[in-house]
Amino acid sequence: MIFKWLIFGVIVYVIYAIFFKDKSIANSSSSDKKDKDSEEMVECCVCGTFVSSKEAYIKNGKFYCSKECMQKG
Ligand SMILES: [Zn+2]
Repeated sequence: MIFKWLIFGVIVYVIYAIFFKDKSIANSSSSDKKDKDSEEMVECCVCGTFVSSKEAYIKNGKFYCSKECMQKG
């Protein structure tokens, strides 16, 4: 029965380790994105879709993902 809890503990530890690993990878990739600030992601203020600032439509200082959203906004 104690062995059962040991396995459970190992599984929890592995999940914890994977979570921390992913977090550090996400942090490093986001800092990479900051280096190329020309490809910054912006949120469409109508539907909430993220588009690169290069592809985004800008009207009155607000970002839109498409012409349709720009007309709605
Ligand atoms: Zn949109």
